[in-house]
Amino acid sequence: MIPYSTQFIDDDDVDSVVSALKGEYVTQGMLVESFEKKIAEYLGVRFAVVFNSATSALNIAYKILSIDGFKAITTPLTFCATSNMMLENNITPVFCGCNNNGNIDVKCIKKILNENDNIKAIVSVDFAGNSVDIDEILDICRENNLYFVSDSSHSFGGEYKGKKIGNFADMTIFSFHALKPITTIEGGAIVTNNEESYIKAKLFRSHGIKKTCLWDSQLDFVGYNFRLSDVACALGISQLKKLDSFIEKRNQIARFYDDVFKDNLYFNTIKVKEYIKSTYHLYPILLNRNLWCNKEEIFRDLLSLGIGVQVHYKPIYQFNLYKNSYQAIDSIENFYKSEISIPCHQKMTLKDAEFVSNSLLKVLETN
Ligand SMILES: *Cc1c(COP(=O)(O)O)cnc(C)c1O
Repeated sequence: MIPYSTQFIDDDDVDSVVSALKGEYVTQGMLVESFEKKIAEYLGVRFAVVFNSATSALNIAYKILSIDGFKAITTPLTFCATSNMMLENNITPVFCGCNNNGNIDVKCIKKILNENDNIKAIVSVDFAGNSVDIDEILDICRENNLYFVSDSSHSFGGEYKGKKIGNFADMTIFSFHALKPITTIEGGAIVTNNEESYIKAKLFRSHGIKKTCLWDSQLDFVGYNFRLSDVACALGISQLKKLDSFIEKRNQIARFYDDVFKDNLYFNTIKVKEYIKSTYHLYPILLNRNLWCNKEEIFRDLLSLGIGVQVHYKPIYQFNLYKNSYQAIDSIENFYKSEISIPCHQKMTLKDAEFVSNSLLKVLETN
């Protein structure tokens, strides 16, 4: 099976982990800070705080905003953690429509703002690794005095207008889950240029405990244990060195697909704007309307050929947890009905990509 995405762990990654395991500390040693420094340097931001998952990072980012009882505009075309962690913090998600690239639709954000009070934040997702329209979102945030949190779990290492993702929002969240651009097995981060948010993020991550002097410490609020271990950070440091080559490989595969799929009769692909560098965490295809009712068969046929496809994402408001409080959104429904993610990752060869594209076109001819 060629999976739609997978980790790439090399001998030198293994060596780094083994050496951390044999080190003096396996958790809360020097490697955590070292990984955070390297992330901040790589992105060109002031602060990075790593967590045991992006879900924990989102949870803490929302706590830092301290907007309990208010609303936040977000996309339903995401992994459930983006909005689940809002519920966890008593923030009401207001779901927004999407563009034909799966990213939050700025026109729809404006409409929601006209129709709602008590909105305090916009939380966007860089769908498939392709950055949202950051300048437009920043304009709206300034005009309406909103926080901007970017769930960039897909786009670590991606760029917008020549700058790395992580430089724009009040807080940007990354995931280091196995399938994401680099991995610490499980893991995530908040990056920010705001020192106060940085200090709070570190406290929330580890019980809220402030060291004072010698054995003494102080506690002002409830924190958590959302720490990432030294061993995981050793893997992260090693993986970070390869991030650019991973992204380059994914871009190569994507360029190959873009080329062979040009003008095909069955589906569209997503066009990335020239001022955006996508990480291609996913390579989505969007089936033409006449094929929507055959999607299950197409999906099954591809799996049976060894092509590990997936669909991103079931709209959040369709889950039981949400469905009584929300209505379907046309642009999101259409995107969901048309979308299939095909394999695109750093472990693939161009020959694999050729096999995927030939098989896909053949399956579509016969469906
Ligand atoms: C993967 C993902 C998350 C959650 O990441 P974890 O590190 O697994 O907690 C959150 N948001 C989006 C958009 C994701 O893709």
